[in-house]
Amino acid sequence: MLETGFSKFNLSKPVLGALQEKGWTKPTEIQRETLAAALAGNDLIGQAQTGSGKTAAFGIPIIESTSAQKVVQSLILCPTRELAIQVADEIAWLQGNKGLVVETVYGGTDLERQAKKLKAGADIIVGTPGRVIDMSKRGHLELSNIKIFCLDEADRMLDMGFFPDVAWIIAQAPNREQTLLFSATFPQEVLDAADELLNEPEQVFTGGTEIEVPEIDQKYIRIGRGNKLWALGRILLTMGHDGQMLVFTNTKRMADLLVERLSKHRFESTALHGEVPQKKRERILNDFRDNKFNTLIATDVAARGIDIDTITHVVNYDLPVETEAYVHRIGRTGRMGRSGVAWSLVSNDDLVQLDRISSTWNLTIPEHEAPELPDGTNRDPVRRREDWDEVSDAYGMVRIRVSITDKQASKRELADWLRQEAKIPDIAIGEIEIGQDHTVLEVHVEKAGRTLEVLRRRKWGGSALDALLLDPEPVDFNRNHALV
Ligand code: AMP
Repeated sequence: MLETGFSKFNLSKPVLGALQEKGWTKPTEIQRETLAAALAGNDLIGQAQTGSGKTAAFGIPIIESTSAQKVVQSLILCPTRELAIQVADEIAWLQGNKGLVVETVYGGTDLERQAKKLKAGADIIVGTPGRVIDMSKRGHLELSNIKIFCLDEADRMLDMGFFPDVAWIIAQAPNREQTLLFSATFPQEVLDAADELLNEPEQVFTGGTEIEVPEIDQKYIRIGRGNKLWALGRILLTMGHDGQMLVFTNTKRMADLLVERLSKHRFESTALHGEVPQKKRERILNDFRDNKFNTLIATDVAARGIDIDTITHVVNYDLPVETEAYVHRIGRTGRMGRSGVAWSLVSNDDLVQLDRISSTWNLTIPEHEAPELPDGTNRDPVRRREDWDEVSDAYGMVRIRVSITDKQASKRELADWLRQEAKIPDIAIGEIEIGQDHTVLEVHVEKAGRTLEVLRRRKWGGSALDALLLDPEPVDFNRNHALV
């Protein structure tokens, strides 16, 4: 056998053979730093980006500690089915001729067929949490013999709120001997999980997170979906003639729609997304670079590789789903030492995602009003609409103040009145706080218009109610987290 960079790890013949056949001669950094500890059976936290070779970093030790007996001894959890497939494929060839059965278990596939495969016996399972739980509860997947448990892309997984699922799965594996956790970043959720699941882990940070968060003036405008165009209009108006703006949307359709809507308000822009033919894409980018137009609406895929040093403004019309994309997006401005500003238009539904982005990347993204109209302009290019979502809190509740006092009514009377007179269903009525000089009541946003209308029209004990819509309460993320 050839002497390779992997030889020093004392790997078994099948694995060395597979590596040789594949032509891998040198371990990557994360492999070099973690293999010895993981092969020795230690718990491990590894910081590694996608593409750094982390699959083999946990795959090899897992293969080495698992024997071909058609009993599930190792479980790897991944955030998505695509990743589960990739990981299983790599483990399948990495084991060479060892004869382990590697099975995937993920949602969206035929349950019966999956159950049959599991019944035939498997040694290593690679799966997504939901389906693993499902198969285990149905009695198709026995977790009690698991010795090695691995959490891949822990930040993405826990981002998706999988922690309770992960904890449930682990509780079914009381004979677990080793836990490996890999993650690209270490937000609080991952640190908490590591604390809870791992035992004196070896910690390996390969650094080189590749991603450097640029120094850019970042702010967000809290705005309902219906008024994002209004806010964008304000930002465009204040950009100035030599500014250049890159606006991000999450879908191609939204990019096209936005170009259309902006043109109705006499803003010229161009869309760049995956369906624009390559030749045309190049032309668009050249024209943008030459400042022939100054507003480009793009999706993440299309914006990859755009390096135009003159972009002054980035706007997240939609917040990205992946927290990493945020950093890539804003990095399109403020280049070559120029100043840049990144605005995010954030609706109530987006607030939790904004919190994830800022905590993952340790960013300060302050809230800001939409820019004022510039001097000499007295009309908004896009009219602002009434938008209930804007005044509702993260639970979709709207707060309304009325002049009722504790001498005039009790909570119960007021709630009954809302149900019977205003025909507001019980479930849409939230807290009611009756004070000495006024009352604040919560109703669900869907019933807010109707409630206000009724409150404004009717009287209570002969006097008007002076119903007034209040601003939403500041968001308390601790409270929200319980919900997501
Ligand atoms: P991963 O981060 O595990 O997704 O790996 C990224 C890519 O690098 C995959 O295509 C792996 O097959 C490949 N790779 C991982 N480790 C090595 C290595 N030591 N030598 C060559 N290629 C590798």
